[in-house]
Amino acid sequence: MILQVEGIILKARDYKDTSKILDVYVKEKGIIGILSKGCKSMKSPLRSVSEPLIYGMFTIYYKEDKLSILNAVDINQSFKNIKKNIESISYSNFFSELVLQVIKQSDEKEEIYAILIDSLKKVDEGFSPKVISNIIQLKMLNFLGVFPNLEECVFCGTTQDIVTIDSNNHGFVCKGCHTNQKLISKKAMQLIRMFNYVDIGKISKLDINEEVNEEISKFLDDYYEKNTGIYLDAKRYIKKLTLIDI
Ligand SMILES: [Zn+2]
Repeated sequence: MILQVEGIILKARDYKDTSKILDVYVKEKGIIGILSKGCKSMKSPLRSVSEPLIYGMFTIYYKEDKLSILNAVDINQSFKNIKKNIESISYSNFFSELVLQVIKQSDEKEEIYAILIDSLKKVDEGFSPKVISNIIQLKMLNFLGVFPNLEECVFCGTTQDIVTIDSNNHGFVCKGCHTNQKLISKKAMQLIRMFNYVDIGKISKLDINEEVNEEISKFLDDYYEKNTGIYLDAKRYIKKLTLIDI
């Protein structure tokens, strides 16, 4: 069956000498494997469109539960600016890896797809990939079914004097119930709440203090470790990059 589908290539791996297998996130179907036959040959029209982050309309010979076959891609956007910079490339790899994990645990294919595309567009437009990565990670917690309670203290139910978010108990903790949980600044907690509601596609300005962003990033590392079972190589790679200070 020949289909035209909207999607984005998240991964491309070599297949035999001349071809590649692409992991494509198709908006309505989730991740599907597509064989790009002969695309490694210099003359192949598929050569330039069989790379990660190619986003557009894919014409494929679709086979359910088997590898589909690529016919052509009409590119919508190729995220040229992301590809110019090693930091933004690393972050977009991280977004791809994260989404590949989350989609295994959720049926919300179109919602997750929209968040991914909006995030990549914003990084391509020049918004801080670090901030966007915090927003996408926070939003993904909804699809993983472990979003923290950011409405009231998880121990006593009060909405007053909230001092931190407890990763082990999934939510706000008030001053009276606080024991040894690491404190989080008010500003970071406000942003964490805001990140969940913000529509990434509509962001026109992101003026976020680096220190506060780092605090949110550390909270998310801890929260992911304790609650999701997701472990991503790309995240470790970004940490290494940060250490050598690019
Ligand atoms: Zn309490």
